[in-house]
Amino acid sequence: MPTLFEKIISGELPADIIYRDPRVIAFLDIRPAAPVHILVVPNKVIPTADDIADEDESLIGHMVLVARDLARQQGIAKSGYRLVINCNPDSGQEVYHLHLHLIGGRALGPLVQRPHT
Ligand code: AMP
Repeated sequence: MPTLFEKIISGELPADIIYRDPRVIAFLDIRPAAPVHILVVPNKVIPTADDIADEDESLIGHMVLVARDLARQQGIAKSGYRLVINCNPDSGQEVYHLHLHLIGGRALGPLVQRPHT
């Protein structure tokens, strides 16, 4: 079964696509956690960060550089942002097609809530 993101890549499902090239696509998150919330997604099907192969090294670097450029375009490079990849259930990963969250446009608070604080 293709994931939601494969369907967005193929055009079967609509999305607010803001960037695409032969290796990645970037679109707005449908439930944004901050004023800027963009997903950078490889065209290649990689379910989780744990499935990244050594040969994917340049693809992963490319995803980060695309996120860097989008952050500049969105005007949040200097105010700051967070890049997040969730992996498997404890992270809360919902879509099992690798994606990099670019989140910013407000102060984001702690990375992870500490237990019992
Ligand atoms: P994760 O929890 O890391 O797997 O993140 C999945 C993200 O995909 C969530 O932030 C969702 O809001 C987002 N999402 C789910 N469906 C769509 C969609 N059709 N278009 C855009 N973003 C989506």
